[in-house]
Parts: sequence; structure tokens; C-alpha cells
Amino acid sequence: FLADAFLADAFQLVPSNQPTADHVRDSILQAPGFGTHFSDHMAYIRWTLRRGWHAHGVRPYGPLTLDPAAAVLHYGQEIFEGIKAYRHADGSVWTFRPEKNAERFRKSARRLALPELSDDDFIGALKALLAQDHAWVPTPVDESDECSLYLRPFMIASEAFLGVRPSHEVDFYVIASPAAAYFKGGVEPVSIWLSRHYQRAAPGGTGFAKCGGNYAASLAAQKQAEEQGCSQVAFLDAAEHRWIEELGGMNLFFVFSDGRLVTPRLTDTILEGVTRDSVLTLAREDGLTPQERPISLDEWREGAASGDITEVFACGTAAVITPVSELVTEDERIRLSAGGDNAVAKRLRKKLLDLQYGRCEDTRGWLT
Ligand code: PMP
Repeated sequence: FLADAFLADAFQLVPSNQPTADHVRDSILQAPGFGTHFSDHMAYIRWTLRRGWHAHGVRPYGPLTLDPAAAVLHYGQEIFEGIKAYRHADGSVWTFRPEKNAERFRKSARRLALPELSDDDFIGALKALLAQDHAWVPTPVDESDECSLYLRPFMIASEAFLGVRPSHEVDFYVIASPAAAYFKGGVEPVSIWLSRHYQRAAPGGTGFAKCGGNYAASLAAQKQAEEQGCSQVAFLDAAEHRWIEELGGMNLFFVFSDGRLVTPRLTDTILEGVTRDSVLTLAREDGLTPQERPISLDEWREGAASGDITEVFACGTAAVITPVSELVTEDERIRLSAGGDNAVAKRLRKKLLDLQYGRCEDTRGWLT
């Protein structure tokens, strides 16, 4: 961390006086689950209309004090990010393309009328927190052990004011949570529920932004999915109910028998995944032909039946790349007639993980 000490230095440290005991942390890191345990500190930056960003710090992890009138509690003016820190074999700790998350965070901020945070502050906060809590990054025992420290930057409107307008006071935090693989089944293919009734995002709305409201709005559909034995929800476009958009928390890819790799093109209703972008680059180098274009439910159904589509997979930071075995709707189950070995998904998954865990050379400068 020495090389970047100047960034972390700007964050004033107030160390926890009750840090987790080493043996307790070690036992958490052996089976961290997902999103239930948190490291000892959090990074913090405050914004006010008058002063801009200030008060950079790292302080003990703990409950926030919010005025009950804080705007975020009433109007949901909030955005967040998700990014992982990986421990390499030499013990060093790395994040993957954090500047992409910083850029997306600024896009989300603009849409939610929140102040924009610079790369230096966003990445500086990750570094400052990791400098303090690096012991919370689990060490993989072998190549199949996809453990990491999940970092959750978020920004909330904290001004105590019940008028509906952008908040004049905002707080930014980064918290950290040790994580095992997201789906318990690892690379086991998952079933996806197609939400016909609920929409996730509409043109002109907030679909491309990572704001809490999008996820709140997806929960009823997610509940239906679980009732149907599915682990995720796929959403169609809100205007024509015809085009495949994405899952509640992942982007979708379709592998065709002729080597095309199709993913829905980015619109203002789709979240621009960092994994999606990385897969497009890795696929090109793998000899596939990536295409970003609209793909309809009809094309999925027909391609699955004819054998033109040989694989479907979902991708995102949390679950990396996960094959999709079937799409379940109220009146049909769309299963692939061809393929079944998910060779492309597995190959791309390995390439991505090898990069993230430092098992191959980082020729693109994707690691920080
Ligand atoms: N779509 C949605 C709606 C998501 O929440 C996520 C997770 N951030 C993704 C796609 C995948 O994005 P990423 O690859 O950056 O994790």
C-alpha cells in the first residue's frame, strides 16, 4: 500500500477500540457466507452544498446516526456500488477495474441528483479502508475457492428536510464484507424466472443507475421467482414487453453455435456491468464474435429449440459467470436443445477469475 499512501493518507484514521479478535476473524473468514459479516472499519466522506466533499476519514464500523427526517429515508435518494478485493498468492490485495465502478457511480449520482465523487476520492476510499482492514480479505485455499472481500460504497441524502428536492447534505461510506462464492452451487446452472407482470426499469427512468429504488422494485418479482424454484428474475423491456433486458442483479449473454456472443445493447434501462464489459473484451480475444444488440424473447425461444443458441449465461461481480439452464414463465419452460456443457461460460469464467486472482498476467492494467 506504500505506493498509494498519499491517497490513503488524506483519510484521517480513527481506529476501532474494539477490533475483532484474530481468532474470531479467522473463523469468520473460513466460512464467510455473503453479506452478513463486516470488517472493523468504514471509509467516509461528507458533502455539503456549501463546502463540497470534505472530512475524509476511516472510522470504526458501526450504526449511523440519522435524523428521522433525513431525505434518504423518505425519498430514497441513494446510490451504491459493488466491487471485490482479491488476495493473490503472494498475499497482496487487488481490486478489479475500480475506475469503472467510480465512473458508474458518477452516472448514478447524476441521475439521482447527488453530488459526483472523483476517481481519487472513490478509489482513495477503497484503498484507505483496505489499508486498515486488509486482514479481512480471505485467502483462497485453492483455485476453486472464490472468496473475496466484497466492498460496498454507497451515498445517502442525509439532510433533515421533508421538502422534495436534492439534499444539501450527503454522506458517502464504504463498508466491507468477506464473501464466499455467491451461488452455493458454484458453476451449477441456474433456473431463471421471467417476470411478465413486474418491470424493473422504463425509458427515462433509473434502470442504468445503481440506486436502491431499482432493487426495492425488483423484490416482489424476486419473491415470485423463489416461489417458482428460480434463483433470479429476468426482465423484459417495459415498452413492448418483447426484448430481453437483464436479471435483477446480473447481465445476460447468449452463445450461438456459429461463435456469436450476443448481449442486449446498453440503453437507459440496463445497468452497465463491469463484468459484462470485461466479458466482451475477453470473448473477442477468445475468438468469439461479440454483438451488442436487442435480443427478443422469441429469439431465445426459437434459438433454444433449433440449437442455434448453445449457452445462456449471466454475469456480475457477485456471481462472476453463471450458466442459465432454463427460463421459466407462467406458461412455458425454455430449455436449450443443444449444448449443455456450458464450455464457453466455463472458459470465460476461468479467464476472468485467473485475472482477478493474479493467476495470469494483467496485460490491460485492470488490477489496482
Ligand atoms: N445488472 C444489475 C441490475 C446489477 O445489479 C449488477 C450488479 N452490479 C449487474 C448487472 C452486474 O454489474 P457488475 O458486473 O458491475 O457487477
